[in-house]
Amino acid sequence: MKTLHFGDVTVDRLVEAEGPGFHPGFFLPEAEDAAIAAQHDWLLPHFLHADSGRMIQSVHAYVIRTPRHTILVDTCIGNDKERPSTPPWSGLSTPWLDDLGALGVAPEDVDFVMCTHLHVDHVGWNTRLLDGRWVPTFPNAKYLFEKTEYAHWAAGEEDGIQGLGSNDGCFEDSVLPVMAAGQAILVDGDHALDDQMWLEPTPGHSPGHVCMNLSAAGQRAVFSGDLMHHAVQVAHPEWNSRFCWNGEMSRASREKFVHDKADTDTLILTAHFPSPTAGRIVGNGERCKFVPVEG
Ligand SMILES: [Zn+2]
Repeated sequence: MKTLHFGDVTVDRLVEAEGPGFHPGFFLPEAEDAAIAAQHDWLLPHFLHADSGRMIQSVHAYVIRTPRHTILVDTCIGNDKERPSTPPWSGLSTPWLDDLGALGVAPEDVDFVMCTHLHVDHVGWNTRLLDGRWVPTFPNAKYLFEKTEYAHWAAGEEDGIQGLGSNDGCFEDSVLPVMAAGQAILVDGDHALDDQMWLEPTPGHSPGHVCMNLSAAGQRAVFSGDLMHHAVQVAHPEWNSRFCWNGEMSRASREKFVHDKADTDTLILTAHFPSPTAGRIVGNGERCKFVPVEG
C-alpha cells in the first residue's frame, strides 16, 4: 500500500508477515466451496492462492500521522513471544521495528497505540523484551484499550476457542505490562481521539472489538480490525471466522458494516487483507465485492 493522504493526515501500512495462510474451509467454517468459486472472478489471484486455494493474508499495523500526533493501529504479533498454540507465531524475530524506523518513526515518537481488540496478532508489539522483562515498546505513548475487551481478558474468561482459551499468553506479556507502566487508558467503544478520529463498537469477533473511523479533508476511512478477515466475507458477511467469540454478534456487526459502507467513498483498511490492502466495498449484483485501491 502506498502512503494514503487525507489532507495533512497520512496513513502507512507496516507489514509483519504476508502470504498464503489458512484454507477458507478451515478458517470460515460456514463457507461453501461452490459459493467461494462463484466469487473467483474477483478473488483470484489477489485474495486466493490459485494453486492451493488458500487465503492470502497479511499481518500488519497502520501508522497514522497527523500534524500533532503519530498513532499506531494494531501491533501485530511481536518478537520473542512464546505462542504454544500457534507455533509459526512463536519466537519471531522480524525487522518490524526497524521498518517503522524506515518510515521515519522512532519508538519515542508514537503518541497513541490503538488496539481494535486484544487478540494475539493485534497486541504483540505493544511490548518488547528488555533485560528479560516485557516493557512498553513505545515509552511516550498512551495505549487505548476498549473497556469491555480489557475486562473480558482481565477476568480470565474462557472465550470458547479450543486452544486459545488464554489467548496464548498475550494478555500477560503484551497488555498487563502496559497497564503496570501506567500507559494504558481504558476507553468506551465510541471514544473520540480527536475531531478527526473516533472509535465505533463492532462486537462479536471479540467482546469489545472496535473499528476506528478517520474523517479528514472531506475523505473517510475506517480501520476495521478483524470485523472481517478475508475479502470473500464482503460477498458473504454471514460467514464467521472460526475465531469469532460470539457468532451471532459478529455476523450482525459485519452485515451492518458491509451494508453501510457499500457504494460509498469510505476507504476500508482491514487488519488482514493482502497488498495493496486498502479498498472499497462495491455492489456486485445481489452481493458485494471488495475493490482494492493503490493509494
Ligand atoms: Zn487478527
